[in-house]
Amino acid sequence: MPKFIASVTPPAAGERPYWFIVRGSEVLVRFDQNGARAIPTQVEVRSLLAMVEGHVLGQLDGRPVLTGEVPRDIEPPEGFTFTGIRELFETIDPALYSLAGRAVQVVDWDRTHRYCGRCGTPTERLTTERARRCPACGLTSYPRLAPAVITLVERDGKALLARNANFTTGFYSILAGFVEPGESLEEAVQREILEEVGIEVTDIRYFGSQPWPFPHSLMIGFTARYAGGEITPDPSEIADAGWFAPHEFPQIPGKISISRALIDDFVRRMGGEVTE
Ligand SMILES: [Zn+2]
Repeated sequence: MPKFIASVTPPAAGERPYWFIVRGSEVLVRFDQNGARAIPTQVEVRSLLAMVEGHVLGQLDGRPVLTGEVPRDIEPPEGFTFTGIRELFETIDPALYSLAGRAVQVVDWDRTHRYCGRCGTPTERLTTERARRCPACGLTSYPRLAPAVITLVERDGKALLARNANFTTGFYSILAGFVEPGESLEEAVQREILEEVGIEVTDIRYFGSQPWPFPHSLMIGFTARYAGGEITPDPSEIADAGWFAPHEFPQIPGKISISRALIDDFVRRMGGEVTE
């Protein structure tokens, strides 16, 4: 597994940086002759760099990792394409996929914090840490993350799955929601599930987490056990919800998400076979 070390310090000259060129929420990738995707090197994107204000993300196996934004009307160079983050999943090295998400989030934060949120003065980028500071009032802005909890609730060998009212496809997933100011993660888990389907839960246990750069979330996964209540979906959020044993599962999310990892973990614990 390639080793990434985060940093904001510019690399020494002569290294061969990876360049994550961001356009909107897309990243520039190259297609090799065999169809594989790759992140361009500095030489390959030289024509674009004049219009890019670069950010250092760090080093991957000793090679600098840089990112910067081009205007939305820029066309990709010959042999390259701008690609959404989701499409990069499992089509490039996992370390580069993760860095693409990081690049898009850093660029988006930088783009949306050009002016002080308190007094409106143009902000300046700090060189010692990833932050922008207002020269007039001193307010410092850091890249923001929106933590969200996602929970697999279990009852007698069945999992609580729900179809979101906003999903255009028919798939079911586990329940998720943003953490509110002042809440612990466990309180957020309990509140979300109660609000969305009227179910109380207990035995909340941490499962794992996943950066979710759409646009700047961190998904924090939990398992929990049913403690009371009957399923009563909130119609503004949930179109349908129910308890499903693994052999009864409806269509579930793809492998990209931690929701699927939680569902697959449940299936394994129930002695079932995980599908691809
Ligand atoms: Zn200010």
